[in-house]
Amino acid sequence: MKRKVTLIPGDGIGPEVSLATQRCVEATGVGIEWETVHAGSDVMQKKGTPLPEEVLDSIRRTKVAIKGPITTPVGSGFRSVNVALRKELDLYACLRPCKLYEGIRSPFQKINIIIVRENTEDLYAGIEFESGTPEAAEIVKKIMELNPKAKMHPDPAISIKPISYKATERIVRFAFETALRESRKKVTAVHKANIMKCTDGLFLRVAKEVAKNYEGKILFEDRIVDNMCMQLVQRPEEYDVLVLPNLYGDIISDLCAGLIGGLGIAPGANIGDGIALFEATHGSAPKYKGLNKANPTAMILSGVLMLDYLGEKEASQRLENAVAQVLKEGHSVTYDLKSDRNDPSAVGTSQMADAIIKALK
Ligand code: NAD
Repeated sequence: MKRKVTLIPGDGIGPEVSLATQRCVEATGVGIEWETVHAGSDVMQKKGTPLPEEVLDSIRRTKVAIKGPITTPVGSGFRSVNVALRKELDLYACLRPCKLYEGIRSPFQKINIIIVRENTEDLYAGIEFESGTPEAAEIVKKIMELNPKAKMHPDPAISIKPISYKATERIVRFAFETALRESRKKVTAVHKANIMKCTDGLFLRVAKEVAKNYEGKILFEDRIVDNMCMQLVQRPEEYDVLVLPNLYGDIISDLCAGLIGGLGIAPGANIGDGIALFEATHGSAPKYKGLNKANPTAMILSGVLMLDYLGEKEASQRLENAVAQVLKEGHSVTYDLKSDRNDPSAVGTSQMADAIIKALK
């Protein structure tokens, strides 16, 4: 029986990398019935919302989705569809494996880090107040009442950073359970608890509390986020599973993507209880839209994670091996993986997918 999967092609380079992924996943022989639905700015023009209810309904029905990147307008316009999907479906854990494959240029020998990013709160919660509005003025007034020592310039814009016990406990537990499942040795909690004593302080306290349940099985340590950035670019091989609040997770994910060959390589998954949405770490890279230029690897590796999640472990391993072989050979790869980005031997998105499908067979 075919397994139903929701496919959201996205915009920018999304449709190209999505098609490449769909072809590679199908080439494994796993029976998938794709339910294709659309979200993003084009949909906004037609339907008045960038995230129509039919998209959420489809994912709620199939419980598994894979999605191309979707552009978020900067500063004004609609809020992020990507963030809305994670919140609406309570996809509280963002899983981003960062593995260095042979054939990728890197100053390091071995990197195999799993990033576990909290997905529902922090400065990403979208609780913001525009400068100069009565709402912002009221918040400032209330803050001054509650904390007369607080210092603010006039008319600040305000973003709220909620960090809760519940969300922290479940994300740290998810990180430890991932470490156990993947036979990892260590979980590192990343924070800025020295400065943000309430929010990050709570994150660290809860992480330490959860870690006690895994004593003797998984090691635990913590790092301040700025130090973590430096450690990762100097000694990434020392890190195993990282667990972070939402914003640090976002930033460190791109840093780690840079360590393993760039955004074109880094896959991801957003996971809730019994529901999952797979997507690359990268965005819609609008300047490459329609050029058959973007690297499809990140989204194909997100397809590898999806097959694994669907219980198709053998197919998932075969597809990952095929990607690894093409990367190792280094011939049929996109421009970003060549040592000279203008190398004329670089292939396009669909040709790289062809090579992966050939390696699979
Ligand atoms: P981006 O990831 O789209 O692009 C940054 C740069 O990385 C690109 O210029 C390109 O050089 C490179 N790059 C990214 N993906 C690549 C690929 N597959 N192959 C080769 N090179 C690749 O980040 P951005 O420019 O900050 O964001 C563009 C848009 O995407 C924004 O609207 C942003 O909000 C959105 N975005 C969406 C998601 C998502 O859908 N989950 C994630 C991140 C950003």
